[in-house]
Amino acid sequence: MKKKWIFVVAILLILVMLGVFWVYKFYFSPDGRTRQVMAFIREPELYPELVIPALTQCGDAPFVMPSSGMIGFIWDDSFRPGHRHQGIDIFGGTDVGITPVYAAYEGYISRSSDWKSSLIIRIPSDPLNPGEQIWTYYTHLADSDGNSLISPDFPPGISEVFVRKGTLLGFQGNYSGTPGAPTGVHLHFSIIKDDGSGTFMNELEIKNTLDPSPYFGLALDSNQNPEQIPLCEDPEANE
Ligand SMILES: [Zn+2]
Repeated sequence: MKKKWIFVVAILLILVMLGVFWVYKFYFSPDGRTRQVMAFIREPELYPELVIPALTQCGDAPFVMPSSGMIGFIWDDSFRPGHRHQGIDIFGGTDVGITPVYAAYEGYISRSSDWKSSLIIRIPSDPLNPGEQIWTYYTHLADSDGNSLISPDFPPGISEVFVRKGTLLGFQGNYSGTPGAPTGVHLHFSIIKDDGSGTFMNELEIKNTLDPSPYFGLALDSNQNPEQIPLCEDPEANE
């Protein structure tokens, strides 16, 4: 009986130590982008060199930046054990409803009738992999209570409306999906694979998504660059 308790206590201790390690890794250690995101959210005016303006085209990349801000998290970043981020997060450094969000590339926009903060744009032919259909997903376009910040041009339930690159879609918000539990104000953007029958796959799983970095001209690998904030590959575009 006594042995069993020692075992239970040992397991609990290991779990607590792992928890402390993850908190340390993300909030206090020099590696990890979280610390920089926290600093940027507090005082964005101190980091103008990390902001990429909306509609910037980096080099000859096919997509334009869908929103202004610091790219705080990239594809395959991990926020907690076992988690892998499926897109990029652009933090505007403003309050909700102020930083515009634009279409990064032309395509056909749809919004499910129950989507408060999300839009999806179908791109029939992937510019980096011609002939393959892909989907671009934009989310967090609502305030902390789920009041939508999406343009009235794209109400819930619309389907397959053509939009050009640079079309205003709405504004950055902080809706997490759970009312009253806001995230930092940002745009989450991801590229979702097609299931082969004309439907997008589940965007929550990284294996169903593509790394957006090459589409934006951001040469960065989350595993090799754990602390670097992405900027344009083309240095002139960063000025
Ligand atoms: Zn995200």
